[in-house]
Amino acid sequence: RDERDELDALIRQVYRAGRALQAEIERLEKLESYRREFLGDVSHELRTPMFAISGFAETLLDGALDDDRVRQRFVEKILSNANRLEALTRDLAQISKLETGRLVLETESFALQPLAMETIDALEVVASDADVNLSVRLPSAIPAVSADRERIRQVLTNLVENAVKYNESGGHVEIVARALPGGARVRVGVVDDGIGIPPEALPRLTERFFRVDKSRSRSQGGTGLGLAIVKHILEAHGTYLSVDSKPGYGSTFSFELDAAPEAELASGAGAVAR
Ligand code: ADP
Repeated sequence: RDERDELDALIRQVYRAGRALQAEIERLEKLESYRREFLGDVSHELRTPMFAISGFAETLLDGALDDDRVRQRFVEKILSNANRLEALTRDLAQISKLETGRLVLETESFALQPLAMETIDALEVVASDADVNLSVRLPSAIPAVSADRERIRQVLTNLVENAVKYNESGGHVEIVARALPGGARVRVGVVDDGIGIPPEALPRLTERFFRVDKSRSRSQGGTGLGLAIVKHILEAHGTYLSVDSKPGYGSTFSFELDAAPEAELASGAGAVAR
């Protein structure tokens, strides 16, 4: 009888180990297929500008060099494709770091107002080239937040850049924020009155290389990775990106952050609004 029980227990143990092994195999298979898909996407994205560069260079060598106007235009195209390759490489390095979970947050308490101002200052040239107006509108009593300041700068930069890129001449982009009831959280948003996003595209926006309009994104120097990067940074903060949009009227991208503890506020850890 005892032997029978022991055998039963052993069989159950082996069975459980088998199930765990099966789950692990499935996990690895999923990871492997994700990796393969990622490599496929990446080589596809890299191929387009690379072919363009060699195509224009070959045409130049085949005689177009002698034509002043053609030469100027082709060299410009080579340069813009090289810039695209550079942007892609930069974003890919960042996303691979984020996706492999190697992101270590450096959390600190800081005021949003100066960060928002710095963000729009850095993008002022891009915005004025596109004839889009940038502004910041925060209540003066907004609490400081507790987050990784440089990563949040990246999030705001990507969102404002998009709000400018997918806008029209004379458009407006505003960084806004407000404390949520209770004061423990702050909601930060980037509001634009640009082209908007069709409802069916909303769930796919943060997928890498997803674009509503490929040619518009490309002509604006987009890599299709900006929102994927935003998503990862926010996830690392335990929060997520919300999007509200109406085609033809504009979009609002927003997320919540933890307010800094009162004590740190009182000690003035960067809590003074500009
Ligand atoms: P991209 O480099 O193409 O801008 P993103 O990941 O930053 O890549 O954004 C993905 C897509 O989401 C964009 O190609 C665009 O179609 C859409 N999008 C993002 N932000 C906005 C916005 N503010 N207004 C309209 N469309 C947007």
